Amino acid sequence: MNVVSLRGVTKRFGEHTALDQVDLDVAEGEVVVVIGPSGSGKSTLVRCVHQLEPIDGGAIHLDGELLGYEHHRGGLRPLPPRARAAQRRRIGMVFQQFNLFPHFTALRNVTEAPVRVHGRDRADTERAARELLERVGLGDRMGHYPRQLSGGQQQRVAIARALAVDPRVLLFDEPTSALDPELVEEVLGVLRGLARDGLTMVVVTHEMAFAREVADRIVFMEAGRILETGPPDRLFGSPSSARLRAFLARHT
Ligand code: ADP
Ligand code: MG
Repeated sequence: MNVVSLRGVTKRFGEHTALDQVDLDVAEGEVVVVIGPSGSGKSTLVRCVHQLEPIDGGAIHLDGELLGYEHHRGGLRPLPPRARAAQRRRIGMVFQQFNLFPHFTALRNVTEAPVRVHGRDRADTERAARELLERVGLGDRMGHYPRQLSGGQQQRVAIARALAVDPRVLLFDEPTSALDPELVEEVLGVLRGLARDGLTMVVVTHEMAFAREVADRIVFMEAGRILETGPPDRLFGSPSSARLRAFLARHT
């Protein structure tokens, strides 16, 4: 069964079509890496899955459940805010900008949402958060505030925070693009570990070596469409479209 499934998903901004009839399935434990030129719709794709943007056509399902809408009198109507929020909590997202709470410690950044939004027990949540921070290599930084952490460390806190709510799928939108080059690898290392642990992930990135190594499947986007998709060896080794060949020539 697919964890995430998109069918004919269309998203417009005014006259501009950012996503044009996109179909995509992400299976349990699969790591899908999304590549493509700037403006091709990669961020819009993950933002639509995370319900940060309403879609204009098609449907997105999470574990077989329609996201954002419910059937009503033979049609669809938007879900009430509370039901939408409940769906969104099953999806984790990590942004290019880490967006940590500056006045909370690393540990509190991880426990805040599970305790306040999900109503989980604080002691249990803290225990789990400590384990997560260990898992991202920050066992010795739990009491630090964001300003006391490097960009790579802040992004690893953001990853721990996204994991803290046990999401069914983790979405990453260029998680290393805001980092100094020497800090990229420590974040990619965490993503590799999560992939090995079997998490279901959709990763937008320009890190082609990482994509090739970690992806079960690559999705190449161009002008709001998925132009090519397949295993990394085939897409990188023998791209069928001139567009992808040109893109790879620029990025590898
Ligand atoms: P990518 O992440 O691949 O660089 P985006 O998904 O950010 O591309 O953007 C796809 C297209 O949609 C671009 O042309 C962009 O300018 C446009 N777009 C994205 N977000 C908005 C928005 N909030 N309002 C208007 N246009 C947008
Ligand atoms: Mg983007």
